[in-house]
Amino acid sequence: MRKLELHWQILIGMVLGILFGFVMTQISWGKDFVSDWIQPIGTIFVKLLKLIAIPLIIASLIKGISDLKDISKFRNIGLRTILIYIGTTVVAITIGLVLVNIIQPGDGISEDTITKLTDTYANDKGVTDKLAEASKQKDSGPLQFLEDMVPENALAALSDNTLMLQVIFFTIFLGISMLLIGEKRAKPLKDFFDALNDVVLKMVDLIMLTAPYAVFALLAGVVVSSSDPDLLLALLKYAGVVVFGLLLMVVFYLIVVSVFTKKNPFWFLKQISPAQLLAFSTSSSAATLPVTMERVEEHIGVDKEVSSFVLPVGATINMDGTSLYQGVAAVFISQALGFDLTFGDQLTIVLTALLASIGSAAVPGAGMVMLVIVLESIGFPADKLAIGLALIFAVDRPLDMCRTVVNVTGDATVSMMVAKSVGKLGNPKIQEWDDHLDEVR
Ligand code: ASP
Repeated sequence: MRKLELHWQILIGMVLGILFGFVMTQISWGKDFVSDWIQPIGTIFVKLLKLIAIPLIIASLIKGISDLKDISKFRNIGLRTILIYIGTTVVAITIGLVLVNIIQPGDGISEDTITKLTDTYANDKGVTDKLAEASKQKDSGPLQFLEDMVPENALAALSDNTLMLQVIFFTIFLGISMLLIGEKRAKPLKDFFDALNDVVLKMVDLIMLTAPYAVFALLAGVVVSSSDPDLLLALLKYAGVVVFGLLLMVVFYLIVVSVFTKKNPFWFLKQISPAQLLAFSTSSSAATLPVTMERVEEHIGVDKEVSSFVLPVGATINMDGTSLYQGVAAVFISQALGFDLTFGDQLTIVLTALLASIGSAAVPGAGMVMLVIVLESIGFPADKLAIGLALIFAVDRPLDMCRTVVNVTGDATVSMMVAKSVGKLGNPKIQEWDDHLDEVR
């Protein structure tokens, strides 16, 4: 019998995980059972994905660069990538700001709800941790990010998942130097990285065999640790604006795919869906990166030369979903607390949300840390920051899941655009995921 396609298997895992989580919240020992016996399965899966991210970035990037005939092309790819990333992020923030100004979710929220949310979350560890992290981030100078990009110790950079840009810097440096010493001298290294690339892609396949079970565990875990349903309901309008904005952003990507790359947008959605489902389940673009790379290279047909640079850089700096959310959240909090925003303030939000999304780490909840910096840029009183975050904390995890989907979809879309613009968008190597998985099984 033919097996169900992978994205259906993952979706079924997700739905069953949510239902199971709900049932367990009704049983006295249910929450402990999920956190002791179910959640570890999801955690192991996320760790496995993170484990292979760095080797995959290195092998794929070296393969991409060493196949280049001409280095100047690489500069071209780099420049286009950064410009398009900035462009899509500005679109995202603008969509968010337009919606939040029209719908004004913060105006209807009652004093009672504000008090209740503040009492529940203003001193919650989740909120205080985010404020502490934000104050660490803000002490850095304007060129700090360039400084941070250059590692002083390659092995230290390779051993830390949060230093992805350092790894990319080192790898590009290595790849270009390999090109410069000539094909013959560099051959042993190139063969090594080619083989490593194939092996890591196979590891992605093997890990993905467990994805349906892992997402079950991840979502059951999210449901049992979610907030009081009454509080979630009070924030429905705000959450609705964020989700509606994110949906519009996906529509924008589909239009871009169709107009710029001339590919069928629904075919694109189908090919990228396993990465989107994982982004939703893990809330981390970094953890999803190996799968995004595999889908884009093998199933969509973007050349490694492009994807191996565009995707890891995108996972780190291009967060359209996060920036849209930061725009909406900053205005929502200001509306709810009666803090008037001028047009200039809203322009400041565009700029700081752009920088904040670049600075946000690709891990769960990072967007909220950088939101603090967006709020501070518009002169939001420091003593009210905890209250501001408390207002949105209850729905932050589900919104994080949704914005991560958009972050990942945006990276994949831009990789297709850049590939098309430099003639590197070909036909996918693997037409059907099932045929591919049959090989692995
Ligand atoms: N969780 C997001 C990501 O990894 C970042 C955020 O918005 O919190 O892409």
